[in-house]
Amino acid sequence: MRVTDFPADIQPHLLPQPSGDLVYRCLNCEERFTIESLLYTCPECKSVLLIEDLQWERLKEFSGSFWRRLFDYRKMLNHPALKGIFLFYEIIAPVIPLEDIIFLGEGHTPVVRANGGLQDWAGIDFYFKNDGQNPSASFKDRGMACALSYLNYIVRSQNLPEVLSICASTGDTSAAAALYSAYMSKKVKSAVLLPHRKVTPQQISQPLGSGARVFEIPGVFDDCMKVVENLADNYHVALLNSKNAWRILGQESYSFEVAQSFDYELANKVIVVPIGNAGNITAVMGGFLKLLDLGVIDTAPKIIGVQSEHADPVYRYYRESDPSKRTFRPVTVRPSVAQAAMIGNPVSMPRVIRLVEAYEQVPGSPGVFVVQVGEQEIMDCQLIANRNGHIACTQGGECLAGLLRARKEGIVSQDEIAVLDATAHALKFAGFQEGYFADNLDGAYEIVPKDELRNSPVLIEPPGVRRMPAPGKPLPENEFQNFVEATSREIARELGLKERGRDSR
Ligand SMILES: *Cc1c(COP(=O)(O)O)cnc(C)c1O
Ligand SMILES: [Zn+2]
Repeated sequence: MRVTDFPADIQPHLLPQPSGDLVYRCLNCEERFTIESLLYTCPECKSVLLIEDLQWERLKEFSGSFWRRLFDYRKMLNHPALKGIFLFYEIIAPVIPLEDIIFLGEGHTPVVRANGGLQDWAGIDFYFKNDGQNPSASFKDRGMACALSYLNYIVRSQNLPEVLSICASTGDTSAAAALYSAYMSKKVKSAVLLPHRKVTPQQISQPLGSGARVFEIPGVFDDCMKVVENLADNYHVALLNSKNAWRILGQESYSFEVAQSFDYELANKVIVVPIGNAGNITAVMGGFLKLLDLGVIDTAPKIIGVQSEHADPVYRYYRESDPSKRTFRPVTVRPSVAQAAMIGNPVSMPRVIRLVEAYEQVPGSPGVFVVQVGEQEIMDCQLIANRNGHIACTQGGECLAGLLRARKEGIVSQDEIAVLDATAHALKFAGFQEGYFADNLDGAYEIVPKDELRNSPVLIEPPGVRRMPAPGKPLPENEFQNFVEATSREIARELGLKERGRDSR
């Protein structure tokens, strides 16, 4: 829609000018630092940072209903910079000029309601938000769009030489980092570190295809992360892990979109997310807190984080109900089919602790909960969801398993409505499905395939057919007709099809 066709009060705000005063804030010593240089940890105390807008209060000159209308109208605007996560420009990173924003099609992923059968099975009405429908097929693109747009802005405005972006990854961060860096290939080269044999073949093909330097490191993600931190401390690199606070800002768009897709009515809503390095749940809480503060929503949704028994440090932390007795202890992870969340020492833990506290202080807050699920439940739930028309990855399955667990524990009741984060596309994790179907998953997952959920292709070799068609070698007409009929009979036999009577044609 053309700018002049929007309501008069909306028109001047459709194309925002840079505004605000963003700073890094240390979550430990509370010190603030300018965003002019790239910081990942506090120079004073080494703790993690979040980005804060010192002029946030200016946004309250407008009412919640104004912001709702602006965001909703902006969906009809055809400006590439505002087509993705920056539709919510003023509450994401309003210091980045529109000309520097990178948009590769991220955000505004579909929210798909579970069918009746699946709702009955789960005992609750729920939706998947398909973040696997982002450009690199996971939610990580939300944060990368913000981090790389900011990088693009400072490379231009500070006239920096070529930047090397670097990250450690359980697969999806590196796919997203490599993709966005490839788009900026004149300015940014990318390198990614992956735990050897701990990412899927699809995930490793992604940064390779985008032209990144790919390094496989012995150990698990937590080990890779330490190497990347060492590189970031000692060399000139741009770190793209979620330690990079710009990524958290971008990932807040998930909450903004959930709010928008339910017309900003979040009473009785339950948001379910898997927890790995805990950047996602940080951003989800942070996003809803911003919307509440501006009056864009008036009720906070309930938040449920989910962890596998094989990688559950956040669950263990919150299992202690007395906050004064909680202590964080990293865990040694065991293999998990929710491999993208297989992290024992989440980098964002201090952020989670801070934001859970803030979230629970919101008047009428329904709270934040962390539940734990088994590997078997994760796999079964993924397969059951997908048999009902979804495209959930194993982490999406983990969310569904977490919802069932929360129902069982009475954390969620039947009259609530849940939104589950299908964080990546099923195809990235096809190997786990294959392993389940073939019953050859590594014993460490402790998964026993259920017959009713297994599936495998059937090779049809029609009896009485001597020669089969082959590429470049068509059969003579009569032989081919024979092949078609014999093959049809075999398939009909397999499917138990009844033959049509002649007159019913
Ligand atoms: C990264 C990732 C997670 C975990 O998110 P965190 O922000 O690390 O907690 C979950 N699922 C998928 C598919 C991921 O790529
Ligand atoms: Zn500090």
